[in-house]
Amino acid sequence: MPHSRFLKVACECGNESVVFDRASKPVRCAACNAVLAEPAGGRAHVKAKVVKSLG
Ligand SMILES: [Zn+2]
Repeated sequence: MPHSRFLKVACECGNESVVFDRASKPVRCAACNAVLAEPAGGRAHVKAKVVKSLG
């Protein structure tokens, strides 16, 4: 199994959020409510731009 990790992502609105890359629920931007990541059978499908991996 790959290690779980966190990703820092930037929403289209400019707000940055940290998402768990094995999120089991959709992750939304706190500022504009856009979906940043969706669960995809294990690893989340990240829809926002990944700024960096936080390991
Ligand atoms: Zn946003």
